Amino acid sequence: IRNLIVVLGDQLDAQAGVFDDVDVGVDAVWMAEVAEESTHVWSSKPRIALFLAAMRHFAQTLRDRGLVVHYTALDHPDNAGTLAAELDLALQRLKPQRVVMTAPGDWRVLQAIRSTVAAHGVPLDLREDRHFYATVRDFTAHARGRKQLRMEYFYRVMRQRHDVLMEGDQPAGGQWNFDAENREAFPKTGPSDVPETLRFAPDATTREVIALVAERFARHPGELDDFSWPVTRSQALQALDRFIQQRLPDFGRWQDALWPGQPWLWHAHLSSALNLKLLNPREVVQAAQAAWREGRVPLASAEGFIRQILGWREYVRGIYWTQMPGYAERNALQATANLSAWFWTGQTDMVCLRDALGQTLRYGYAHHIQRLMVIGLYALLLGVQPQQVHQWFLAVYVDAVEWVELPNTLGMSQAADGGLMASKPYIASGKYIQRMSGGSLCAACRFDPAQRVGERACPYTTLYWDFLLRHESALAANPRTVMQVRNLARVSTEERARIVAQAQAIRDMQ
Ligand code: FAD
Repeated sequence: IRNLIVVLGDQLDAQAGVFDDVDVGVDAVWMAEVAEESTHVWSSKPRIALFLAAMRHFAQTLRDRGLVVHYTALDHPDNAGTLAAELDLALQRLKPQRVVMTAPGDWRVLQAIRSTVAAHGVPLDLREDRHFYATVRDFTAHARGRKQLRMEYFYRVMRQRHDVLMEGDQPAGGQWNFDAENREAFPKTGPSDVPETLRFAPDATTREVIALVAERFARHPGELDDFSWPVTRSQALQALDRFIQQRLPDFGRWQDALWPGQPWLWHAHLSSALNLKLLNPREVVQAAQAAWREGRVPLASAEGFIRQILGWREYVRGIYWTQMPGYAERNALQATANLSAWFWTGQTDMVCLRDALGQTLRYGYAHHIQRLMVIGLYALLLGVQPQQVHQWFLAVYVDAVEWVELPNTLGMSQAADGGLMASKPYIASGKYIQRMSGGSLCAACRFDPAQRVGERACPYTTLYWDFLLRHESALAANPRTVMQVRNLARVSTEERARIVAQAQAIRDMQ
């Protein structure tokens, strides 16, 4: 073998640079399903099933192109269990002249592969991940000399550089950001005419994977009955098309809205296909831009959506690769509580959390506001150690890969990076959840978001006031949170003591 092309579970892109110079006569592909990738964090069943099903389908498309694929299945009797050990065996057996691979998304995986390949004295040709608009070097150059790394400025540069939603050198519509027109809450009657999201019935290959995961990972969280994620490029393209046609027009409007029993709403549900590299961000952005230019989608929706991909997704990758490995250890608020065990089962009296956790375990999906302002917010207010929150988020979602999950969890959601990513912690009381769900989540709940102490007090509201008290001086020194802290002036010493005691009681019960 001349080149052994290593393809990881989140590198399922037939257009990747590693295939540019492939010669089926002398090169071969290596892929391996290893238990470690599902157990280093306690991965949910839908997440494991998605990766394995998509890998198996991708290997088949490579074989169809005439490539030899050395593929170790999870249940192969000699499976060594880790990427490093499996690769080690493959290098001994196949003796390639060179290992070629796309730069991996995870820091941990990069270290493991580098040292395994080095131990064999084989050259490693690590190629740029062309999937992304920006290289890590581009991001480093952008970050140089800036005290703060706000997404908004990075996004504007990306819009200009890649000529997206631009009219000459001006942003389309005269504004970079149309969020003021987005983010409505549902009316009391709830969402109406929610378009159906495209789901894919598992084929024979996927059914085999589902059976394997059910047996092998029986004690892992999550469910498999509803598994219907896109697992091939052609399914991912259909899912994209459906989103652009039916949901993008109202995406912006309902981007932040919550409603019980409504997991899909107007979101794209494309993150897993993007992160596995079944979809390229350029084709997603171009499709949204074209829909706007053709007058099928309002600019506010197209812009709001494109910002998530051209802005946030690229930006968090830059944060990850410029800050790792130290980033994963950060704990700026010195939070030390343990994550409540019921995060893994969804069994809690709080209706909003039960709803968000329930759909997470069932589908491996929750939309951004559920992750940030329901689940993440609760952990932040409770004061859970950010590394535990990170492990949970990395485990449960079908789109979870560390380069995107870690900055979102540790930086954006848990404010654990000392303000590098977000200019303020995302904190709110139960009233935010009440407002964004048109009252629906709280109407069905035994807790009252307007009360901070007493039997019916909403734990979010109690913990929110407790958070203000615990971090009063830091929040008062930040212009973006000073108004929130000012409200403490109206809280008497006795009331403060009651808040602190009730917050402690909530922590003791977790
Ligand atoms: P939409 O809301 O329809 O957005 C469209 C696309 O934009 C997404 O598919 C995604 O690719 C991208 N996107 C949107 N927001 C972000 C963001 N903040 N960062 C990066 N890309 C974004 N996203 C992941 O892909 N993997 C994760 O593991 C992940 N973990 C998260 C953890 C927390 C605590 C939070 C607050 C957010 C996390 N996100 C993660 C970001 C975001 O919530 C998901 O990308 C989004 O909910 C996926 O659903 P969707 O495809 O319907 O997205």
